[in-house]
Amino acid sequence: MGSEKTKNAQETKCDKCEEKVAITLAYGPHNFCEKHFTQFFENRFKKTVRKYKLIKPKEKILLAYSGGKDSSALIHLMKKFYSRSNTMEAIVIDEGVKGYRDNAINLAKKTCEELQLPCTVISFKKEFGITNDKLMPLILKNPKMGGTCAFCGTLRRNIMNKYAKKFSADKLATGHNLDDEVQSFVMNVFNNDFDRMKRMSATSGIIDHEGFVKRIKPLYETPEKEIIAYCAMKGIKHYSQECCPYSWTAKRNEYREMLNHFESRFPGTEYSILRFYENIKPLIRPSEKEKPALASKLHECKQCKEPTEKELCKACEMIKQIELEGKKNKSNKITNLQHLNKYNKALTCSTTKNRT
Ligand code: SF4
Repeated sequence: MGSEKTKNAQETKCDKCEEKVAITLAYGPHNFCEKHFTQFFENRFKKTVRKYKLIKPKEKILLAYSGGKDSSALIHLMKKFYSRSNTMEAIVIDEGVKGYRDNAINLAKKTCEELQLPCTVISFKKEFGITNDKLMPLILKNPKMGGTCAFCGTLRRNIMNKYAKKFSADKLATGHNLDDEVQSFVMNVFNNDFDRMKRMSATSGIIDHEGFVKRIKPLYETPEKEIIAYCAMKGIKHYSQECCPYSWTAKRNEYREMLNHFESRFPGTEYSILRFYENIKPLIRPSEKEKPALASKLHECKQCKEPTEKELCKACEMIKQIELEGKKNKSNKITNLQHLNKYNKALTCSTTKNRT
């Protein structure tokens, strides 16, 4: 009994000091008090930036900010470590989801004010003349149109790249974390999407082209669960009350659930998957010799001037598809929603919340 008690007392101490453990990271395993977890977390963030050469001094960084946990942590970390050597401002995208985005946007604007960061809100409505609330019923009615999040993500990427150029940013930083990246990798394997897989990493894209602003992911090696813990410990406000009402239609939820299961049974699984991808990356990406030929295939989209290999870029193609679908739906109402039964409505962003 006595030795058991001593062992428990030892186990509750931080690995680095005599303080009580605030967080245990099973993959280490690491036991940290608040101070040493913060140090560990921030050092890994800076190490990722150095390792993948994400930021150079004097560059202008546009921060993609949603008001959620990942981009809230990102904006605070960027301000803390890079605002002396770099200029930065934030862009917040309003997809037009009543009751969800409005609240997150208000929080994002307030945070930018507190951090003295210029902030611009760009809406789908202004850019494309639509809102997610109008768009999603059309997509849900027609299984051929693909997933709601695929639409939303494509339109968001179009806005981010366009505005990064407009604001003369050298880099566009997003809050993608380790979990997001590993989910994407596994999704690409399951979907046999080799082209998309090749473009993954802490910096997006495989070729340099003047039409694309490099997207960087400084939280590439940071687990989602630790971002939530860091925000809680540092008092970083973020919007977490509601999930997007359309998030239950994202296939990604299934991958998140599966990978969360593996990570909790076999800690370190997500890091292993990421390392595996980084090991094969040089083998699957085009060589320096092949890159100019790939870049030469790109030209301006006929409609929005964003770079594309086709006549219209993916976002403009989608808008065209939506317009056609809107017209069709007025005269020919589709009532069969059977295809939606494949989604598990219990899996939304709260799947993550519940495991913390
Ligand atoms: Fe868009 Fe999907 Fe995110 Fe909702 S959950 S904001 S639809 S990407």
